[in-house]
Amino acid sequence: MPTIFTHVAVPVATSLGIGKIASRRLLFFAAFCAILPDFDTIGFKLGISYASQWGHRGFTHSIAFALLVALLAACISRQLKSRAWVVFLLVFIAVVSHPLLDMCTNGGLGVTLYWPYSNERVFFEYRPIAVSPIGISRFFTERGFAVIKSEFMWVWLPSIILLFTLRGMRRK
Ligand SMILES: [Zn+2]
Repeated sequence: MPTIFTHVAVPVATSLGIGKIASRRLLFFAAFCAILPDFDTIGFKLGISYASQWGHRGFTHSIAFALLVALLAACISRQLKSRAWVVFLLVFIAVVSHPLLDMCTNGGLGVTLYWPYSNERVFFEYRPIAVSPIGISRFFTERGFAVIKSEFMWVWLPSIILLFTLRGMRRK
């Protein structure tokens, strides 16, 4: 996976870009939703194999899961202090961006993006993001630096561009 900070970049840039229609509360909620799919790593502790549809990068890394989370989030739009369609859209983008970013990484198994229709593990053809080493100590190594560099190039930079593009569009 890209590091969790990087998963958070997409919803944060999008919500800052669209401005006030997304409340601060929604921004934090969407940021949390972007890392939600990786809670499936709990499956390793439960003895679920990586390759299972219930394992890591399995059903939580699908379009269907993103739609479900976005729908549930829209139901609590009042608590999130934003309109239901804004909540739905932002949360959907946050959750679905997670497997799409994982599909750009150069390690591990692919994601079951089309679950439950298919359990096939998919990747993008071009995978520029270096997979992040697990654990903080190994992070401060050459490989850790390569990860930060690739994530900056392929996620942070495009997110910053997205933020300013959305802001520019709003001004018009
Ligand atoms: Zn993931």
